[in-house]
Amino acid sequence: MGVYSPCKSFFQGIKLATIINGKEISQQIRGEIANTVKTITDTGAPPPGLAVIIVGDSKASQVYVSAKKKACEQAGFYSLEIILPAETTQAQLLQKIDDLNNDAKIHGILIQLPLPSHINESAILEAISTDKDVDCFNPKNFGYLNLGADCLQPCTPSGALELLKRYQIPIEGKNALVVGRSNIVGKPMATLLTRENATVTIAHSRTKNLPELCKNADIIVAAIGKPEFIKGAWIKENCVVLDVGTNSVNDPTSPKGYKLVGDVEYEEAAKRASFITPVPGGVGPMTIAMLLSNTLKAREKLLNNN
Ligand code: NDP
Repeated sequence: MGVYSPCKSFFQGIKLATIINGKEISQQIRGEIANTVKTITDTGAPPPGLAVIIVGDSKASQVYVSAKKKACEQAGFYSLEIILPAETTQAQLLQKIDDLNNDAKIHGILIQLPLPSHINESAILEAISTDKDVDCFNPKNFGYLNLGADCLQPCTPSGALELLKRYQIPIEGKNALVVGRSNIVGKPMATLLTRENATVTIAHSRTKNLPELCKNADIIVAAIGKPEFIKGAWIKENCVVLDVGTNSVNDPTSPKGYKLVGDVEYEEAAKRASFITPVPGGVGPMTIAMLLSNTLKAREKLLNNN
């Protein structure tokens, strides 16, 4: 893995971190998955199948879903996009999930969140079969994850972890700081790092001494949703920085009028970190790669259990 060696780059005398190229790693994983799917389908067996449900007509969700559809096609998956009107009732959505739970062509089910306010989100997430719950949304899977069981793992945190592994960055015994405690990123990220034997601290909006905690961290995972909130000066020399934050900020120089930035002050942090993920192109692209990977795993498990 020569290209990923932790050698430092030098620019105008300033030492810079190795940039973790999530886009490239994600393409690599998607290529590996496509090869596996080809070996499956070459035998005449059906491919992995992923169903994505959106309720309502959010443009952002639809853009995301069409990206998933494209990724499925490239990997040779069977893909189903179910776009339901915003007025869909809870009972109708539960029926749709039940149909997919019983559909042998489907191995992964993903519900695009948030759901309209008249639908009880927990009831919906609990209805997804744990065997097909490819983003670990079902509370039972969340529990299994915390018990250290062999279960499907949430896509974004497992994508961030996979980056550490692919770059051969040691985790065991390291002080890891996860900033953010959401159910979809922060909490499962902390669990996954604990499972890898890191010593994990979780920070959140009520944390009093964030700069101090950052100074003590060998690995920082930022999942806050506030542009460049974590300052470069807070970061310990040679820290590994995984920036999950994806924030849109005004940028008159960009043709779109905005640009995406992370939760970490990238330019300054890159002068102190050993490895750092950029935004965009770091953790972000890993989510879809892990979604495909989970669907493939779910297929294998479902076939072995039947
Ligand atoms: P949430 O809004 O659900 O959670 C944000 C977390 O940040 C909360 O736990 C909150 O603490 C914490 N927080 C807020 N302010 C501070 C502060 N001042 N100091 C420390 N912690 C603070 O966000 P998500 O977890 O869903 O997402 C986080 C970021 O990751 C977003 O930018 C999102 O866009 C991005 N994201 C990227 C993905 C991808 O790349 N594929 C996927 C999912 C998310 P508290 O609990 O106390 O309120």
